[in-house]
Amino acid sequence: MSQLNTYKDDYLKASENLRLVLPFLSKYQIPASPLNYQIGYDVVSGANSALKKAVDKLLEEQDQLSEKKLLELYKQYIAQDDQALESIRRELHKIITNIRSEYADSNGELSDYMNSLNGFAEILAGSDHSPELGAEVQKVMQDTRSTEESQRKLKSQMNSMMQEVESLRSQLQQVREESLTDALTGLANRKAFDQMLEQVIKDTHEQDSPFSVVIADIDFFKKFNDTYGHLVGDKVLRYVSKIIKACVKGKDLAARFGGEEFTLVLPETDLAGARIVAEQVRKAISKKNLTDKGNHEDYGRITISLGVSQYNGKESPAELLERADQALYQAKANGRNKVEIAE
Ligand code: GH3
Ligand code: MG
Ligand code: MG
Repeated sequence: MSQLNTYKDDYLKASENLRLVLPFLSKYQIPASPLNYQIGYDVVSGANSALKKAVDKLLEEQDQLSEKKLLELYKQYIAQDDQALESIRRELHKIITNIRSEYADSNGELSDYMNSLNGFAEILAGSDHSPELGAEVQKVMQDTRSTEESQRKLKSQMNSMMQEVESLRSQLQQVREESLTDALTGLANRKAFDQMLEQVIKDTHEQDSPFSVVIADIDFFKKFNDTYGHLVGDKVLRYVSKIIKACVKGKDLAARFGGEEFTLVLPETDLAGARIVAEQVRKAISKKNLTDKGNHEDYGRITISLGVSQYNGKESPAELLERADQALYQAKANGRNKVEIAE
């Protein structure tokens, strides 16, 4: 577990840190990206002393930190797990909601006060009163107006600060999503797949339902790349991803396992059901002749081989995958463009 999912700063402390982080980043001309913000936050809050030491040392030697260096620091001193990101997101959310409600409250109070003063002034205007009293009320009203004015300014400063925090928050959310998505194909990546697999195994134990996984591998893809080039190969990976995605639904997850390999997690699905899905994918991919939309070049047919295994109730994720991989190996050995089932 990361040391970062233990941010316990209350909103005052966290907003104070925010006010320290931004000058820190700007002093060293560090862009306030989410990752750099987190580095800054850890440095100024003293939450991560090892990181602080490393940063201090670097800043002694040079007065700027390169993007590369910052990324290194991040990787070395801040575990990049989702819980950590989630924890910063929550902190930022806390700051926003607290600041918002606090400023909404205090501004409301002052305006109410101004209204009752106005009412009082009107009553005085229509009655017999001493001029001193009238002058006093005017003075109080002026003070109130200038307080309101400075509060308006403060509020607009707060607003722009909050906008910054909001944008940090959505950037963090984006980082989180990107960390679970394969950039080339847009499918879930290996990390998302691992997380889902772990979760489904847990659920399966609770609900006592079957579930299966499928590993798919494009046939002779090296030759395809060698013949048509890697860029065309990448297009094919995107095309295959699209088909695989279209073949799964509901709770199913399709992921790019790496290279030209894909996986499916099929909750509440037994071997027979998983075989049907795998066959659908195989057929959908093999039935189409691939041509380039631009230059109409013909790339022929692409096929994939698939291995299926059903969770046996006690194995580890790695063992489950290993059995699917063995089945995949069989499918290759049996001539490719096939689905094989693990024992
Ligand atoms: P097999 O039928 O036994 O799976 O043969 P293969 O050629 O598909 O298998 P091999 O593992 O020898 O080669 C996999 C190839 O996949 C190597 C590489 O050219 C290609 N590949 C892996 N990742 C990518 C990628 O991101 N883009 C492209 N274009 N090709 C990739
Ligand atoms: Mg392969
Ligand atoms: Mg292959």
